[in-house]
Amino acid sequence: MKLICIGRNYTEHIKELENEKPTDPVVFLKPDTSILLKKQPFFIPDFSDEVHHEVEVLVKINRVGKYIAKKFAQKYYNEIGLGIDFTARDVQSRLKAKGLPWEKAKAFDGAAVIGKWLPKSEFEDIQQINFSLKKNDIIVQKGNTSHMLWKIDELIEYVSKYFTLKIGDIIFTGTPAGVGKVVANDKLKGFIGDNELFSITVK
Ligand code: ZN
Repeated sequence: MKLICIGRNYTEHIKELENEKPTDPVVFLKPDTSILLKKQPFFIPDFSDEVHHEVEVLVKINRVGKYIAKKFAQKYYNEIGLGIDFTARDVQSRLKAKGLPWEKAKAFDGAAVIGKWLPKSEFEDIQQINFSLKKNDIIVQKGNTSHMLWKIDELIEYVSKYFTLKIGDIIFTGTPAGVGKVVANDKLKGFIGDNELFSITVK
């Protein structure tokens, strides 16, 4: 399975990183080895001094598809989740400056947190989902899926032009404002509404 990640999908996060609004979604992949194992702490890798949390709404693909039209996209997922796209920002900045790929900053072991899943049917409108991240019990990121530049069904249409979507693939839909550095002993908890979907410790 693969993790398909979207960058710069919320306007405020774009401002925060001083990126230009893209004309196409920014897409990158993480391998399955980047998934943080259940109940394991997240270890800050020794090649970075600046790992940032990016809380993101996740979509789990449940059918094989390619060239999926937006109007049929909702048939390809049944579950919504929440996770973290951990990013070694210092490494990413160096790679970006040289126009190099981001994998070393984004796809390292443990860089993908995947929380519990909720049935899509629990949501009246998946483009009106409130989600948040608490660091040491203080809210550091707060978002609503209505602020996505590309909506979930549009993302499925877009990424399936390039990659066949397979059962179990997960889409990370981008992070809202408030990304920030983590340090050892931080506790990160992710919420959709009041529902806690993950809790991890940084080491
Ligand atoms: Zn991200």
